[in-house]
Amino acid sequence: AKYVYRFSEGDKDQKDLLGGKGANLAEMVKIGLPVPPGFTISTQACREFMREGVVPPELRVEVTMAVREIEDTLGRQLGDFHEPLLVSVRSGAKFSMPGMMETVLNVGLNDASVKGLAEFTGDERFAWDSYRRLIQMFGKTVLDLDGDLFSAALDAKKAEVGAATDVDLSAEDLRDLVATFKHIVLEQTGREFPQHPREQLDLAIEAVFGSWNTERARLYRRRERIPDDLGTAVNVVTMVFGNLGSDSGTGVCFTRDPSTGQAGVYGDYLPNAQGEDVVAGIRNTLPLAALEEIDPDSYRDLLQAMRRLETHYRDLCDIEFTIERGKLWLLQTRVGKRTAAAAFRIATQLVDEHLITMDEAIARTSGEQLSQLMFPQFDRSGDTTLLTKAMAASPGAAVGEIVLDNEQAITRAAAGAHVILVRRETNPDDLEGMIAADGVLTARGGKTSHAAVVARGMGKCAVVGAEEIDVDAAAQEVRVAGHTLRPGDVIAIDGSTGEVFLGEVPVTDSPVMRYISDGLEAGLGAAPDEATKELVLAVHRVLEHADATRTMEVRANADTALDARRARDRGAQGIGLCRTEHQFLGDRRTYIEHVVLAETDEQRDAALAELLPLQREDFVGLLEAMDGLPTTIRLIDPPLHEFLPDLTELSVAVALAERDGNVDDHQVRLLAAVRRMHEQNPMLGLRGVRLGLKVPGLFALQIRAIAEATVELRRRGLDPRPEIMVPLVGSVRELQIVREEAQGILREVGASAGMRLDLPIGCMIELPRAALTAHRIAEEADFFSFGTNDLTQTTWGFSRDDVEGAFFTDYLENGVLTISPFETLDAAGVGALVRVGVEGGRATRPSLHVGVCGEHGGDPESIHFFQQVGLDYVSCSPFRVPIARLEAGRAAV
Ligand code: ADP
Ligand code: MG
Ligand code: MG
Repeated sequence: AKYVYRFSEGDKDQKDLLGGKGANLAEMVKIGLPVPPGFTISTQACREFMREGVVPPELRVEVTMAVREIEDTLGRQLGDFHEPLLVSVRSGAKFSMPGMMETVLNVGLNDASVKGLAEFTGDERFAWDSYRRLIQMFGKTVLDLDGDLFSAALDAKKAEVGAATDVDLSAEDLRDLVATFKHIVLEQTGREFPQHPREQLDLAIEAVFGSWNTERARLYRRRERIPDDLGTAVNVVTMVFGNLGSDSGTGVCFTRDPSTGQAGVYGDYLPNAQGEDVVAGIRNTLPLAALEEIDPDSYRDLLQAMRRLETHYRDLCDIEFTIERGKLWLLQTRVGKRTAAAAFRIATQLVDEHLITMDEAIARTSGEQLSQLMFPQFDRSGDTTLLTKAMAASPGAAVGEIVLDNEQAITRAAAGAHVILVRRETNPDDLEGMIAADGVLTARGGKTSHAAVVARGMGKCAVVGAEEIDVDAAAQEVRVAGHTLRPGDVIAIDGSTGEVFLGEVPVTDSPVMRYISDGLEAGLGAAPDEATKELVLAVHRVLEHADATRTMEVRANADTALDARRARDRGAQGIGLCRTEHQFLGDRRTYIEHVVLAETDEQRDAALAELLPLQREDFVGLLEAMDGLPTTIRLIDPPLHEFLPDLTELSVAVALAERDGNVDDHQVRLLAAVRRMHEQNPMLGLRGVRLGLKVPGLFALQIRAIAEATVELRRRGLDPRPEIMVPLVGSVRELQIVREEAQGILREVGASAGMRLDLPIGCMIELPRAALTAHRIAEEADFFSFGTNDLTQTTWGFSRDDVEGAFFTDYLENGVLTISPFETLDAAGVGALVRVGVEGGRATRPSLHVGVCGEHGGDPESIHFFQQVGLDYVSCSPFRVPIARLEAGRAAV
């Protein structure tokens, strides 16, 4: 096998093999950008390392050859006494996992080469600083030592000599520190810090491989749904130095603002520093524009490189660069992560610049991002107490209790509290706390700090670099603007403006939400500034294109006229599921009681007859709201006892009444009925079509109400389009019986009104047997609607109401599941039944109209699956309608 690839050998499409960082470094070399010489060890080597526990022997040989090539090119040798070559050893997996895995800089430095480096650069302080960084990083990541040991020693040294920052330490101080660090290594590991450069290199490579499987990397992958078996590549890159004085520096930049999407370059710069320092938030950075004054030539080169990259990738790029004594080097690029707002704005900007097509624009936005823009925002019309204003790093509005560490965050969140994680700065160890929190607030760091990058990736609200805040973890206090706050005190943070408020701040609809519910003009009107107007317009263009592109219709699940109107405003093209059971709750429970308690057919029919006008009014309202659009009405589905009092409560009430000697005959009979109807597994019991066949007149009442409502609306000149849907069908015969009865009623009501009532009659496919016998069922069905919630329960044999808490966490942990099958359709299992059902149904009836009405109808990944199997529509909650429109569009391009 070949494990090692020169940068000149790869390209951006080889992320599987070279990881994202390696593939993009190769691509930059390919297009002629200045990248320090280096090579990439493939992910395959990592996978073999994970399997065998040792690196493949050929790898050592290939590394030797690749290192020698660099040495020959540069005329310098790894760890040489004179002009030493130093390298960085950097992780880089297929999917970016910011800050999750390890990187070791300055590999090749030892007691001898540190002197060579000092001579060669003419900067003794720099050389010792680089050496102490190597021991610190190597100790922490390769030797697995506690990083605090080193930072404590560093702090002690600073205190000893009265240095305010690292930069104030002299060459002497740093040399002392190196001695201390080496001593720490010896004491902790029982071995000297490895002096041999090649040994350093080999150990660092193994450590990077090993970092793939750290706890925090696994946690991150689980969250981001990145497979655990990909492995990471390792990039070995010639060191260039940003810490060689004031004509050197390091930075991170973006070709557009990844947080707002504002056109124009954007970034952070730190003079006289190594790359680590920017991300760690150790010193506050300068805005990129400052570089123009510090070093106009490098600034110009950088702008040119950014333009090259954006044109080449045709997308927002984020870039790590270092300037070594006035010479620009690019150390990393990738298509940058961005907030939801930035995604929409940048996509349409690039369309306007003729760099991408509208099809590509919709592919670069997502339903998930759209949903974030639909979240409420702070309403500032009332009184608010502004504590401070800092950098808006990741948008959103979060209100919650202050928590200062992971443990507090997790405990309070588990107790149901909303929490804001407040830290001086975050690092990868804070990941769990960030996941638990509603928002993140840090006192240090820029828009490219760990907190900002990770929060953006999670779509979580973050404000960073709030320098006026003093976070005192030891005292459990946060001091700001004369207030002393403690864990449990409530604050509100606005990740779009950077504002931090004391106490609760009410929230209001976002301009994008206004657009979605009330149209373009309302959305633009609600936008407070030009940037937001551009955003609303971008969302509008993207949605319009998605609508024009998609082949699936989007309907909504709505039970009331109000919900139906709301869904329609948001672009729903019909109702895919109206659950009629809600119409039997509340006051109407008594009617159901009468039906259940009826002792004769006459009594029961009388009880049902009382419900008829009420049901008719429900349908009139709904069908009126959906005038001209298909409206699928599902006949009653749950077991009847759900409408009756709870067995235990009723038993107690009756027992108490008996004790007090005032027995209520009605209650006693009710209790007997409830007992009779009690089921061990109601979800698999007397419900759906089974109930309809068991209780004569129940379905008939609903069908009659639908028919009469249709007649009434038609008489008013409207165009009602109800579709009658039968739930829980498992056998064609069940549907056939209901269909015959329904057709009879439709004929009768139609005849007396002098109209033809040819309403479509179809069924849900939500039992495996229905899917497997779909070819038969289609003989009696005008349409199918997949009820994927029940189909998931019945296919897996999971009870949705019980399993999520019981063992899903374990299943997600041990990899049986990668996501709850109730959230995203299990394509391999449940999806196979959907496919069989569609094929079977269409084989019998090619014109069969097929949709889905489970929760999955609003889930992006599932929507793409439904497109593949050829469904005609998806139906989801009214809130998710725009999300489904966009995803259905994306699925069709
Ligand atoms: P991450 O994936 O966490 O960003 P990187 O591998 O990119 O880790 O490295 C961490 C930091 O070290 C970055 O700021 C990067 O720019 C810097 N760095 C990496 N390699 C070199 C190098 N050869 N010369 C100078 N700086 C480097
Ligand atoms: Mg990096
Ligand atoms: Mg169901």
